[in-house]
Amino acid sequence: MEPFQHTIRKKISFAGIGLHSGAPVTLTVKPAPVDTGIRFVRLDLGKESSVPAFMDRVVDTSLATTIAEEEAAVSTTEHLLGALAGLGVDNAVVELDSAEVPIMDGSAGPFVHLLKKVQRRRQKAPKRILKIVKEILCEDGDKWIRILPYNGLKITCEIDFAHDLIGKQSYTIDMTPSSFANEIASARTFGFMEEVEKLKEHGYALGGSLDNAVVVDRLGVVNEDGLRFADEFVRHKVLDLVGDLALLGCPLMGHVIASKAGHAQHLRIMQAIAGQPDCWQFVRLEKKDDDTVLERVITTTKAAGTKILPFLVPPTPSLAGGSCVA
Ligand SMILES: [Zn+2]
Repeated sequence: MEPFQHTIRKKISFAGIGLHSGAPVTLTVKPAPVDTGIRFVRLDLGKESSVPAFMDRVVDTSLATTIAEEEAAVSTTEHLLGALAGLGVDNAVVELDSAEVPIMDGSAGPFVHLLKKVQRRRQKAPKRILKIVKEILCEDGDKWIRILPYNGLKITCEIDFAHDLIGKQSYTIDMTPSSFANEIASARTFGFMEEVEKLKEHGYALGGSLDNAVVVDRLGVVNEDGLRFADEFVRHKVLDLVGDLALLGCPLMGHVIASKAGHAQHLRIMQAIAGQPDCWQFVRLEKKDDDTVLERVITTTKAAGTKILPFLVPPTPSLAGGSCVA
């Protein structure tokens, strides 16, 4: 993991449509000072109308992740946040003129492509890394997420769909900017034909098409060009998980293992982390002259944590469920 915070060198823009709204949207990612985190600004509602990419601002996890502060709602945040977190961009302001991040091709590929092109800029402040020191488990029926101590960020996702083409898939990755860009970023979102039709009847997935999703029917993949990876489905689950965990507001050090999990479970494990400060600590990394990396603990105690951490709040009752134990 890297010691220092990063932003991007130049602003970049994307134009597209929202997957669920079908509405056209232009989005610009701009450099930001240290400790900004990622902040979304709804330009169509005024420059003051903004929402930080933070777990306690999540208002909906049903089809995609939506965050909001007062009227400033932004939905389908996960692929853009996955691109920023995956490439190690800590600070950025994201301006958009509609309520949904453009779906692009259904993956984080287009975001990663431009982010890599403008490159990152190292900043003069250490990253605050949330290091898991004791196992955290969050179960929700047959879905669960477990985080174990690990020196780095490792992610394992498992899925199990009753469809011959998908079935059981598992993927494990040691996360670095290059492994994320090469193995995860271009995996597209997917849906089943009959579900897509139902969603459209109910006014969702209005922007969805074969240009921005892998669609599967009983016979196989409907998209003419097929899959980008044989296991594209589970790789996309890794992308969604990375994008949602970015809502912790800082990089995570640990091994996250997620089984059949979706946005709702991603939120619950973050709430479990926030509610169990004895399972983690904040550290920063320092590079010595001989290139060894020294880890320094910044925060260890629950008492200090509740004062300085805005997210050490109890889970919102309407969003909480299942059981989370250390
Ligand atoms: Zn997704």
